[in-house]
Amino acid sequence: MARKIQAIRGMNDILPDQSSVWLYLEKTVADVVKSYGYQQIRFPIVENTELFKRGVGETTDIVEKEMYTFDDRNGESLTLRPEGTASCVRAADQAGLLFNQVQRLWYTGPMFRYERPQKGRYRQFHQIGVESFGMASADIDAELIVLSAKLWQQLGLIEHVELQLNTIGLAAEREAFKTNLVTYLTEYKDQLDEDSQRRLTTNPLRILDSKDAKTQEILKKAPSLDDFIGEESRAHFDRLQAILTANNVPFVINNSLVRGLDYYGKTVFEWVTTHLGAQATICAGGRYDGLVEQLGGKATPAVGFAMGVERLILLLETLDLVPEVAKYQTDVFMISLGEEAELASSVLAEQIREANPTMVVLRHCGGGNFKNQMKKADRSGAAMTVIIGQDEVDQGICQVKQMRTGEQASCSIDELPSYLASL
Ligand code: ATP
Ligand code: MG
Repeated sequence: MARKIQAIRGMNDILPDQSSVWLYLEKTVADVVKSYGYQQIRFPIVENTELFKRGVGETTDIVEKEMYTFDDRNGESLTLRPEGTASCVRAADQAGLLFNQVQRLWYTGPMFRYERPQKGRYRQFHQIGVESFGMASADIDAELIVLSAKLWQQLGLIEHVELQLNTIGLAAEREAFKTNLVTYLTEYKDQLDEDSQRRLTTNPLRILDSKDAKTQEILKKAPSLDDFIGEESRAHFDRLQAILTANNVPFVINNSLVRGLDYYGKTVFEWVTTHLGAQATICAGGRYDGLVEQLGGKATPAVGFAMGVERLILLLETLDLVPEVAKYQTDVFMISLGEEAELASSVLAEQIREANPTMVVLRHCGGGNFKNQMKKADRSGAAMTVIIGQDEVDQGICQVKQMRTGEQASCSIDELPSYLASL
């Protein structure tokens, strides 16, 4: 036998017993975002490498070490998208959707990052992203956060997640803070973890994010970003908090929340949970007023977030929050004996589906004896089995067996669709 080829490490198949949860989540999200007026946008999985270098930032973890980059056959450098925001901006701007307009967009699909695979962290993972363009005031930041809270509510997660909020101010404010932070941390350079030592020159803000205990200890006496936040950023942040409070969305201010992508400014936020170990963030976002211009468009205020679908699904499963109705279930199994009965059964199956569009009707195909077909009906987990043999065809009836109780009754073919619906 030929050697089997395995999937790539960190890239998972989503098998039939998992896909119904995915469909449930995607449908719930699609309904919620639509109710806020967000429209879906779809863009390619591959883009010019330059888009992410310029968009996400050269010194971010993503661009430094996580991208799947390759040369196309013509020598052009392409990258599998590691996130959706840069692509979304590229696509919307290219189509002329951003010029003097307000846009509310969302997308879903796979993202690719070369990370160490572990629970909640994969090399191909999926995000659902929500982005808004053309609105500078805090009420749109609030709308997005309220929308996400609504989603957790719909999914039954609201009690299990916490909203962390911060403002990282304007670029000039961050620069002033960075200078101070670097001056302070340079004194302790030897005691910082390796990543943080490197970031001292490349991306000092990210040091605040360090998981290293010693680094965190040193950071306790470091200058605080909060002290560098100017009036405009402060007012924006205050307004956001006021709107969230008015909407009964609780939050925690986390002054060391900076996010790992360069394009953020002012608002940043994360929804975190204590149920997923180290991969605690299920949704993250913020304002990125500079990105459109940085990618060659006209300056356009923007704010958005992305959620990690795998982490959300892990959370739903861990907390046993997948509703029964979302799980796949065969309702009716149909078996038939003889050629004429098979014909009648296939026509009848269509009539049942027509009359009961949400019913899952599974026909046994390929004949076989009664006993074998009944075994398949049993294994299908269906609540009802419809049996048709030659006698039934002659009389214009069928047998309906209720699999849970074993009760069996005959029913005229004409009445079957409504009879099944009534059981
Ligand atoms: P983390 O700090 O966990 O690495 P991040 O800051 O890199 O996350 P973002 O780029 O903000 O993540 O992506 C938004 C969300 O996408 C994350 O909050 C997470 O839920 C999910 N996510 C990010 N990277 C992965 C991954 N490799 N595997 C699965 N989900 C991921
Ligand atoms: Mg990451």
